[in-house]
Amino acid sequence: MERRMSDRQLPRPRIAILGSGAMGSLFGGCLFEGGSDVTLIDLNASHVEAIRREGLVLSTDSGERSIRVPAFFPHEVATTFDLIIVFTKTMHTTAALSAVRSCIGPKTILLSLQNGLDNKFLLTAFARPQNVLIGITTNPADLVAPGHVESHGAGIARLAATAEPATPILKLLPDLLARGGLNATVDPRVETAIWEKVAFNAALNTLCALTRSSVGQIGADEATRSLAFAIAAEVCNTAIACGFAVNRSHVEQTLASAMQHHTHHKPSMLQDVLAGRTTEIEAICGAVVRHAKERGLSTPMTETVLALIRHIDAKIAARS
Ligand code: NAD
Repeated sequence: MERRMSDRQLPRPRIAILGSGAMGSLFGGCLFEGGSDVTLIDLNASHVEAIRREGLVLSTDSGERSIRVPAFFPHEVATTFDLIIVFTKTMHTTAALSAVRSCIGPKTILLSLQNGLDNKFLLTAFARPQNVLIGITTNPADLVAPGHVESHGAGIARLAATAEPATPILKLLPDLLARGGLNATVDPRVETAIWEKVAFNAALNTLCALTRSSVGQIGADEATRSLAFAIAAEVCNTAIACGFAVNRSHVEQTLASAMQHHTHHKPSMLQDVLAGRTTEIEAICGAVVRHAKERGLSTPMTETVLALIRHIDAKIAARS
């Protein structure tokens, strides 16, 4: 696949994607196609080796192509990057950044587009707050085979600084991503959007994972449907107590719409449980319950699903 040539010269920061599974490969592959200097980093041997052998096969609405983007294991990279986009699952963030600590210089910018709360605190253990960006993305992606990622449908990434002055890379990133065909915008209200997505995930991902049901099945049963809305309400109350003006009716509409239109969808937490992988429950319900407790709020439904998913995670961890 030929890399796209740009009409207008943009700066070319050295970008690493730390955790190049489904989302990391999508963003890394698209950035590379758009002309960016990208290095994929991942631990998954079959995936890294397939990319080295055949290129990264990306299937999107623009078609299927093989992208010759460099892919490395963490121990193989030594150079300092201008930007590291963290796309591991949240429970692997700290281990992943520790393993590439030598690639993080005083000017390296760290960006998390992962799901869940408090990713910025994990990143600020490795870089000063002015060098930490956070965001959220609605792009979907699936690793369908080693070296092969699929992503269909539109999405948008919303990005923000966590401290002033904002790094110039923040302004540049939407352009770099756009050249690779990905939508992105700078949105100072991104933390509110993150809480809204957490409300959605805390409600639906947990119930689907616990019952092994699709989103439509949860929505079709009055009891589980009500439970989902009750969990989302607890998360919204917690967000508001933390100072984030989440739009409760928007969250409810998104839940109702998913239950109506994404009837066969199996959320990532259900896929993780079915595949015998531990889940991102701590960054979702674990963080919500912690913030609620700090503010004296009660979140009984969220605490219940948290305890149950922790139980499943502990059994999975014991097996592996
Ligand atoms: P994934 O499991 O496909 O990819 C994570 C990758 O991280 C894996 O390839 C794994 O090998 C790698 N990894 C783990 N530990 C590592 C380490 N120490 N060093 C280097 N690599 C390491 O997960 P994903 O679906 O791409 O999700 C990534 C993040 O994006 C999650 O927070 C998820 O919630 C979020 N997200 C996913 C989607 C989606 O549709 N997949 C959509 C929006 C947000």
